[in-house]
Amino acid sequence: MSPDHAVGDEVDRIRRTVADLHAELVRNGLVAWTSGNVSARVPGTDLLVIKPSGIAYADLTAETMVVCDLNGTRVGGELSPSSDTASHAYIYRHMPGVGGVVHTHSRYATAWAARGEPIPCVITAMADEFGGEIPVGPFAPIGGEEIGRAVVATLSGHRSPAVLLRSHGVFTVGATPRAAVKAAVMCEDAACTVHLASVMGQLTALPPDQVDALYRRYQNEYGQR
Ligand SMILES: [Zn+2]
Repeated sequence: MSPDHAVGDEVDRIRRTVADLHAELVRNGLVAWTSGNVSARVPGTDLLVIKPSGIAYADLTAETMVVCDLNGTRVGGELSPSSDTASHAYIYRHMPGVGGVVHTHSRYATAWAARGEPIPCVITAMADEFGGEIPVGPFAPIGGEEIGRAVVATLSGHRSPAVLLRSHGVFTVGATPRAAVKAAVMCEDAACTVHLASVMGQLTALPPDQVDALYRRYQNEYGQR
């Protein structure tokens, strides 16, 4: 098989994966109308696959996904890519370990973002998944790579795979697109629980050594190995 065919097969596989993962955003109640998007790096290439702009979730198929280079320029697909594509591309260029990126305006997490407040690490599920608080990044205009810049700057040196962008919403990253979707689901779940707790009264942060121990266990020992 020629290298071109091998790349083509890999692109087709990632198109299918990214299309299927968009359904998870809907299933988990993270998106309204056409907001939100998932992208994935095509392993071993300088390409990414991302949702087309402004297309209803029910109409997303592997074929409608858009292939772009890591400058955000479309190289495959018929439709215009998501308006967040330049920011996704920026993240892939600057975070080589990232294989998937997700953006949502999920309700509870975006409520924290609207307040410009990080979500404090007060429950074990947050220590497990995020290794501490979920940080807040600066406000950035939509359409260029400024959002990507804000995401990379906030997540660099942070264990959290999720960042709240001030007055906007959530970006998550993962080694795979599925891991980034999981982080988006867990971020919204944590945002909801910690909000409810904060309404009921004073929040108590987990001690840092407990956070470290929980994070280590979850990342290294939890689940099937
Ligand atoms: Zn947005």
